[in-house]
Amino acid sequence: MNQTTDVVIVGGGVAGCATAYYLAQAGVKVTVVESQGIGMQASGYSAGGLNPLQGAQIPGPLGALAMESFRLHLGLWERLREDTGIDCQGRSISLVKVALDEAELPELQETVDLFAAARGDGFSARWLDSKEAAELEPRLAQGVLRGVQAQGNAALDSYLLTLALARAAERLGASFRTGRVQGLQGGPGLATAVALADGAMACGQVVLAMGPWSREAEAWLGVSIPVEPLKGEILRLRLSLDGPALAHDFSGGGSSLHPKPDGLVWVGATEERRGFDKQPSAEARESIWGAAKRLMPSVAQARLVNHTACLRPVTPDWLPIVGQAPGWDNVYLCTGAGKKGVLLAPGMGRAVAELATQGRTGISIGPCAPERFGLVARA
Ligand SMILES: Cc1cc2nc3c(=O)[nH]c(=O)nc-3n(C[C@H](O)[C@H](O)[C@H](O)COP(=O)(O)OP(=O)(O)OC[C@H]3O[C@@H](n4cnc5c(N)ncnc54)[C@H](O)[C@@H]3O)c2cc1C
Repeated sequence: MNQTTDVVIVGGGVAGCATAYYLAQAGVKVTVVESQGIGMQASGYSAGGLNPLQGAQIPGPLGALAMESFRLHLGLWERLREDTGIDCQGRSISLVKVALDEAELPELQETVDLFAAARGDGFSARWLDSKEAAELEPRLAQGVLRGVQAQGNAALDSYLLTLALARAAERLGASFRTGRVQGLQGGPGLATAVALADGAMACGQVVLAMGPWSREAEAWLGVSIPVEPLKGEILRLRLSLDGPALAHDFSGGGSSLHPKPDGLVWVGATEERRGFDKQPSAEARESIWGAAKRLMPSVAQARLVNHTACLRPVTPDWLPIVGQAPGWDNVYLCTGAGKKGVLLAPGMGRAVAELATQGRTGISIGPCAPERFGLVARA
C-alpha cells in the first residue's frame, strides 16, 4: 500500500505525539506510525512527575529546556481538555522530602536552595524539623532527621497526556496508523519515504521519535544515536490508612510515594540496565515495597493493584537528542529524554516542529544536538 503525507513521525509515545500536535497546529499534514499503540510504552506508565529544577543535567545544560517545557505544560492541559475532552490530571503538587539518615541531608539542602532560587517562577521550599514533619504527616516513619516541603512542581497522568496530544493532533488533521517502520527510502541525505511491511509511505520529512528503540535507525541514517533502555518498575498500591488520604508526594530512604487522584499511591521506581527486558520482577517488587515501608510503615498493609515495568530511553550524557540528523536535509531526531521524557516532551516536540517548518527554533535545544555523537559506518 503506497501513501503520501508531508511528515511521517515514527513513534507514538509522548515525544512523537507532542511533535505531531505542534506540527498539526502549524498546518502540516502529519502521519504518526506506531508499532504497538499510542502511549503503550514508557509514555503510558511513567510516574508523571514534572520537576524542572532537579535531575540529571538539571541544573546544568538541560535546565533551560526543562523550564521552558514545564511552562509549555502549564499552558497545555486546559487547552487539550477543551479540544479533546481528555483531562490529563495536570496539577500542582507539594513534595515532602525527608532524611532518614545523615547521608540524605545534602539532597534536602540542594532542594531548598534550588526551589528558593526559582521563587520568581512560583517555586518555594521550607525546612521541617522532625516534629514539624510528623505533624504534617503523622504516618511517616519515626526517626525522620529533617525534612523539606517544596512547592511548585506538577504531576499528571502521562498516558492521558499522550492520548490527549494524539487526539488534539488528529482533530487538527493528523493521521495515525499501526505499523513498524523498517527503514527509509531515498538518500543520500534526503528521505523520500518510510518503508513499512505493506509498502512505502512517501513523505517530505521524517521525525524519528522511537524512544529506547531509536538505535535501530543508526543503520538507516549512518548517524550515531546511542539511546539505551533503562528499565523502571513501579507499584500501584491501595493503602489502608487510618485518617485522610496522603496530601503530598513523599520521598526519602530510597523510596518515593505519589498519591494519585483516583486514590491509588504509586511507589517507585527502579533503575536497571537489563536490555529490552520489560518483565516485572518479584525482586523489584520486594525492594520497592521494602523501601516504602521504611518511609511509611503502614505501607506494609497496602494492597498491590498493579506492578508495571517499562523502558526509559537514556543517552550516555543524560541529554536528549533533538534536532536535524547530521547529513540529512529532512530527517529529525526527537528522543533520548531518559527519566524526564514526559516533562521534556512539549519542549522537544515544539522545537522539532519549528525546525521542520521554519528551519530554526527559539527553544533551548543547543546541548541536545544530534551532532555530538557523530556518525557510524553505514550498514
Ligand atoms: C518507571 C518510570 C517512571 C518515569 N517517571 C517519569 C516522570 O515522573 N517524569 C518524566 O518526565 N518522565 C518519567 N519517565 C520517563 C518517561 O516515561 C520517558 O522518558 C518517555 O515516556 C519517553 O517517551 P518517548 O516518546 O521518547 O518513548 P516511548 O514512550 O518509548 O515511545 C516510543 C514509541 O516508538 C515506537 N516505535 C519504536 N520503534 C518503532 C518503529 N520502528 N516503528 C513504529 N513505531 C516504533 C514504540 O512502540 C513506542 O511506542 C519515567 C519512566 C519510567 C520507566
